[in-house]
Amino acid sequence: MANEKSKSLFEKAQLMIPGGVNSPVRAFKAVGGNPLFISKASGCRVEDVDGNSYIDYVGSWGPMVLGHNNDAIREAVIKAAQNGLSFGAPTEAEVLLADKITQFTGIDMVRMVNSGTEAVMSALRLARAYTKRDKIIKFEGNYHGHVDSMLVKAGSGALTTGQADSLGVGMNVAADTLVAPYNDLGAVEALMQKYSVACAIIEPVAANMGIVLPDEGYLAGLRALCDKYGALLVFDEVITGFRLAKGGAQEYFNVKADLATYGKIIGGGMPVGAYGGKREIMELISPLGPVYQAGTLSGNPVAMAAGIAQLEALENGDVYNSIGQLGGALAEGLREITKKFGLEVCVNQIGSLACVFFGIESANSYASVKLADTGLYAQFFSKMLQEGVYLAPSQFEAMFVSFAHSQDDIDATLQAARNALKKLKEEGALQ
Ligand SMILES: *Cc1c(COP(=O)(O)O)cnc(C)c1O
Repeated sequence: MANEKSKSLFEKAQLMIPGGVNSPVRAFKAVGGNPLFISKASGCRVEDVDGNSYIDYVGSWGPMVLGHNNDAIREAVIKAAQNGLSFGAPTEAEVLLADKITQFTGIDMVRMVNSGTEAVMSALRLARAYTKRDKIIKFEGNYHGHVDSMLVKAGSGALTTGQADSLGVGMNVAADTLVAPYNDLGAVEALMQKYSVACAIIEPVAANMGIVLPDEGYLAGLRALCDKYGALLVFDEVITGFRLAKGGAQEYFNVKADLATYGKIIGGGMPVGAYGGKREIMELISPLGPVYQAGTLSGNPVAMAAGIAQLEALENGDVYNSIGQLGGALAEGLREITKKFGLEVCVNQIGSLACVFFGIESANSYASVKLADTGLYAQFFSKMLQEGVYLAPSQFEAMFVSFAHSQDDIDATLQAARNALKKLKEEGALQ
């Protein structure tokens, strides 16, 4: 499998772009080797600049729930672009998309932004303004974009205040972020007793440390704790929104958040984010209220057209049945195959989200996933790539199944996994 062109592009990219990429995980650092430069994508497949084609499970990290280059979305984008790219004034498309988002999710009001990061940043500001409190609880291993206050995980245990993961995050910013382990309600209550907390923000399914599911009753328990201590509950639905169900995790788990953030899927591949929630809270946003938040390109007409087309396609409930079944078949197949090879593996899956953790039996927290065998994942990743399957270039990312995947694609992926593990066994990599 040639990848000369990818290699030379990567060399050149590194001269001008930090690390050669515009978002770190794309650089393949966690798995080694050279990142593939993608030239085009269609359905469940991506093609690199050297002409190799792969069954794709990255799905642009979530937006491509219908598969790549969906006809309806592409046509909507072209049609919108013909009328101009941006006006900086209200458009009908914004109203149509807001209508769809509020209908799907049950939130009262929504504000469009340009990325998931921006949605989270704005929602946190709003939560602080509404509660007139500063502290925020986040959860170990949850990712909320590169918002300063969210680039924090555990310092020394759940009851200590945060320490930044990134240079450049001010001490004062990090100090207002409290960190609790995922799936541990006791730790949350201890923090809420000790501090005056504005909100708890959570990925209702943790999809940025591999896939980690909330324990039975955990999200409802969090809802109850927030109510008890007067904190807001913020669901970061940038991945789960419009993917687990039309109404995202709030619908799937039947737990209502006060605020929710969206991204990825609502742009259909265009750069879009949104945050929304209860009317009483959202009415604090400028120009109605005193919480400032703005965006030159927010509600961009081309991006709105993509979002509308995406949500229209998702109105058909078959999408969720189909991607859920395929996700289940993929996970079940991977469990069987890895078992045949005598591997200790934990495959977590919910709907169209899945993750294979090597070397561990269970994965329900950051502490448990940290023990995964990332070296073996890296080897598996490389072998799968050779077999024509493009997995996420890190153990701690999700596999995204789309409506464009078929049972045949899943079968081909499982056959690739058999071949990959067979080769690793022959090479002595499976101890
Ligand atoms: C991707 C992601 C974000 C950040 O979205 P960007 O569009 O990359 O800024 C925030 N939260 C979650 C849960 C995400 O998966």
